[in-house]
Parts: sequence; C-alpha cells; structure tokens
Amino acid sequence: MQIFNKQIKILIVDDSPSNIRVLSETLGQEYHVIYAMNGEDAIASAINGCPDLILLDVMMPGMDGYEVCSKLKADSRTNEIPIIFITALDTEQHETVGLELGGIDYISKPINPNLVRLRVRNHIELKMLKDHYKNLSTIDGLTGIANRRRFNDFIEQEWRRSMRSQSVLSLIMIDIDSFKQYNDHYGHSVGDDCLKLIAVSMFGALERATDLLARYGGEEFVCVLPGTDIEGAKILGEKLSAKVVSLKIPHLKSATGLDYVTVSLGISAVVPTKNDDWNSIIELADKNLYLAKGKGRNCIVC
Ligand code: GH3
Ligand code: MG
Ligand code: MG
Repeated sequence: MQIFNKQIKILIVDDSPSNIRVLSETLGQEYHVIYAMNGEDAIASAINGCPDLILLDVMMPGMDGYEVCSKLKADSRTNEIPIIFITALDTEQHETVGLELGGIDYISKPINPNLVRLRVRNHIELKMLKDHYKNLSTIDGLTGIANRRRFNDFIEQEWRRSMRSQSVLSLIMIDIDSFKQYNDHYGHSVGDDCLKLIAVSMFGALERATDLLARYGGEEFVCVLPGTDIEGAKILGEKLSAKVVSLKIPHLKSATGLDYVTVSLGISAVVPTKNDDWNSIIELADKNLYLAKGKGRNCIVC
C-alpha cells in the first residue's frame, strides 16, 4: 500500500527536549511530526491535531503517560489513535500495564532510532489499512454517499454536541415518489441509476461542510444539518427538491400526475434536551414525510 508520508502525522510526547529532538530527527524526514511536553498538551494536541500515531513517554511530571493513555482511550475523538509507549520503565509489569491500558506497543529507552523507525512504519501501515476499511464501511456502495451506519454515528454525535451547546439541529427525510412504479416500469437497473443520479445531485447542493447527506435505506435519504434552524432547513429542502426536479428524469407512472421523478420531504428541527434521544428528531421528520405523501407527494412538510 502506498503511504503518503508527509500527510501522516505523529505526535511525540516527552518531557525531555533531547528525547523529542532524537525522535523528531528519526521520524521527521518521513512524517509530519508534532510534539507535546506534558500530559495536558498531549491530550489537546491529540484532539485538535488528529495524529495518526502517538509516541508516549510514561514518566512525566504531573499527568503521566498511563493517565494520558487512559484519557485518550476514553474519548471517542481520540480512542482510535494507536499509542506506542516509549519509556525507561521496561519491566514486564510496566509493559503489561501499558498494553492493558490500550497501548499498541512498548519501546524501551535508550532507543535505537532505526528500530523505532521500522516499528513506527509497521504501525502506520496498520493504521492506514484500518482507516481504509473504516472508510469503506461508512459509504453506501450504490450511491457513494454516506451510508446508514455513518448516519447513525453522525446523528448521535451531533445530537450530543447540540445538547451541550443548546443549539438547534435539523433533519430532512427525503423519499422518492412512486419509486416502486418506477422500478416496475423501467427496470431495477435503471432504478439504480436513478438513485445514483439523485444522490449525487443532492450531495452537490449541500453548502456547509458540517452537513451530512446519507442514504437512509432503499429510496430514502436523510440530511442532517447541525446549527441550522427550521427556516434554513426548509430553504435547503426546497433546493434539494428543485435539484431533483431539474434533472427531469422521465417517470410515466408517477402518482403525482407529473411525468418526471420527484421527491417528498419531511423536516424537523430540535434543540436536544436530556428528556429525549436522537430517535425523536427522526420520528418527527418521518411523521412529516408521511404527511407530505398524504398531501399528494412532491412537497415539503415542516
Ligand atoms: P411513495 O411515493 O409512497 O414513496 O411510494 P414508493 O413506491 O416510492 O414507495 P415504496 O416504499 O412502496 O417502494 C419503494 C421502492 O423502492 C421499492 C423498491 O423496489 C425500490 N427500491 C428500494 N431500494 C432500491 C434499490 O437499491 N434499487 C432500486 N432500483 N430500487 C430500490
Ligand atoms: Mg420509502
Ligand atoms: Mg418512495
């Protein structure tokens, strides 16, 4: 597998400047290296800098490496970053503690730079593979947009984020009208092409990097809009619907009376509270989608 080295970031954590220098010299030619000299800074760098690997010293004044590791493993933003302990505490007992806390490897000081380089290379390769497969499993195979699994993770995370900041979260459910008839009339593979085209067009209509469009299942899509209120969500909903209409995909059997493919949309906006969970915003949008179908389809209910 090709490794684009300079895009790979390694965080070195050590309270000794000379250790940081040796490790930076060893790894700096191949990777983008950042460093921290204490536990607090290490955690901040791990959260903000998103490194691919962390080399973590155990003995540091204040928060030691074990504690840093425990904190990183307990946080969903950082728990997948592999951690290699680099330490002079090389007894079996210390090694066991480190690995049990979730460290992926243990290297003892004084370090052999060449061995560190080779081990880091192996772990980086594993990390790249893991990222690759994770990426594959969050993308819908047919349309190339996010899949249901990615949506579930995303809505859960955004629900919590919105609850903390007490900001509004909007959700749009989008369902293709009379798609069963479409398949029956044009065939399943033309149906697949239609799904792809609609997904890609709607994806292109999103403006904010923080919005997510996912395939919810079958001929249903869902759009999550963090920090967007109901008016904003309605404007985007209209844009998505207009985008689909503008494709003018022929549909001679639509129950809408139109001869092209249309969508119906249900929109909800919620400021999350502790009393309900993220399913409530989906149920609300679903209810509105059902109402939109009842109103004759090709419309939006908020
Ligand atoms: P409504 O306007 O009320 O939404 O009716 P509908 O026919 O769109 O809804 P219904 O739920 O009855 O049927 C959905 C159809 O979507 C059934 C299925 O054949 C089709 N469908 C679901 N997933 C796929 C897919 O991946 N590819 C294709 N070609 N068709 C699919
Ligand atoms: Mg449906
Ligand atoms: Mg449908």
